[in-house]
Amino acid sequence: MPESQRASRPPHPAPPGDLAPEEFARHAAALTAWIAEYLRTPERYPVLSRLSPGELCRSLPPHAPEAEESLEAILADIDRLIMPGVTHWNHPGFLAYFANTASVPGILGELLTAALNQVGILWRTSPALAELEETTTGWLRDAFGLPDDWFGMITDTASVSTLQALAAAREMDPSLEVRLRGMAGRADLPRLRIYCSEHAHSSVDKAAITLGIGAENVVRIAADDRYRMRVAALEEAVRADRAAGYRPLAVVATLGSTSTTSVDPIAEIATLCRRESLWLHADAAYGGAMLLLPEGRALLAGVEHADSLVVNAHKWLFTPMDCSVLWTRHPRVLKRTFALTPAYLETEEQDVALSLSDYSFQLGRRFRALKLWFVMRAFGVRGLAARVQHHCALATRFADWVREEAGWEVVAPVEMSVVCFRSVPARLAGDEGALAAHNGRILDRVNASGSVFLSHTKLGDRYVLRVAIGNIRTQESHLAEAWRLLRDAAAHPGV
Ligand code: PLP
Repeated sequence: MPESQRASRPPHPAPPGDLAPEEFARHAAALTAWIAEYLRTPERYPVLSRLSPGELCRSLPPHAPEAEESLEAILADIDRLIMPGVTHWNHPGFLAYFANTASVPGILGELLTAALNQVGILWRTSPALAELEETTTGWLRDAFGLPDDWFGMITDTASVSTLQALAAAREMDPSLEVRLRGMAGRADLPRLRIYCSEHAHSSVDKAAITLGIGAENVVRIAADDRYRMRVAALEEAVRADRAAGYRPLAVVATLGSTSTTSVDPIAEIATLCRRESLWLHADAAYGGAMLLLPEGRALLAGVEHADSLVVNAHKWLFTPMDCSVLWTRHPRVLKRTFALTPAYLETEEQDVALSLSDYSFQLGRRFRALKLWFVMRAFGVRGLAARVQHHCALATRFADWVREEAGWEVVAPVEMSVVCFRSVPARLAGDEGALAAHNGRILDRVNASGSVFLSHTKLGDRYVLRVAIGNIRTQESHLAEAWRLLRDAAAHPGV
């Protein structure tokens, strides 16, 4: 090529790689300083975001930037754009739903997870992921006093854990041949039925929908006056279904129900399941943490007879979202349900090494065990138990305040760290509609304060307020503030 032409060609561009590690170190230092300040004073934010629907979308450009932007500019926009849209689950005044926490060790584990970027499709794509998951789920199983032959794995949510457990339940009887032949258009396949309490979480229905079992085939069993599944009603439902030609498949027992943290009588349910050859799945998404305490073991006694169990570490075990632990005593059935190895994933070690994708719907998995490992080591089992116990004590204290106040009532037993209660002024006695409106207005007023966030539920026809203590930073002072706001709101003329 002539010299003149060579000179006129643009220089070969540098390959567009990542930002320099020095840049990372500089910005990470700024960001971690920002996070430390956030964790020191989350109370400077209103706990419940005040954004209105669509507001953030409208403040953001409609298209991604064509040209690069500096990390300084991006980080500056966190305060300006993102924080107003954050509802602060890390705020000690977060008392809604099931409160939870991103603890410091958990945040560090999550940071490292992103940096290491493990994609756990096979043992060899991340031996550390596979073996730390095996180890941490084993540690937690032992800390809970569960049988030491249970196999554990981590999913993103309890919804997915329950879905996988019920998929395995369906595979327990290979003669159904659902994996191979599906369920549609099969005259030989009876309707499969799943039983759970009227207070079980909607994830059971979603699992049935996703598995093609159908929402109609989730049989909701009536509960007693402590919101626990009635075993006699369960027995009768199974009997009636068999008589009608249906095929009872599984029971989901809830150990810590979403509304009240009620605990189904799992020991009795387990006896029935054994007799009827039904898979027993225990949903202890929240309540499982109680197994760290002797009183929790007594409350959940019988859980050791379950075929599978889900506990969310991202609920009451101070691990950032998401980290749901699923155990089963039937790993071979779980593997039979999900194992599928295309040629490109065959390896020489596949018969001796654990590939968790063989046991789950998803192929690639995040390195979630890392943050659980950080949390379990940094707090220790004793430290985790002490925090759970403290939350239970706070709930008992809050319930005492409510009980001692005229015109208020606690409406469900306080089994764990949730209190269900309501304002019952004499002028509204017996009028459930008016009581619901009254308590709804109290809730809105209290939540508008910005210093606490509570949620509600319905128990029968009663509209009920809930205080859920599960955030690691919640102290008695935050509950006292919630109680002051509640009483003020109830006394307010507009309420
Ligand atoms: N099970 C129970 C008892 C729950 O309370 C919840 C949610 O709060 C779930 C399951 C679903 O949890 P996830 O959001 O992890 O799917």
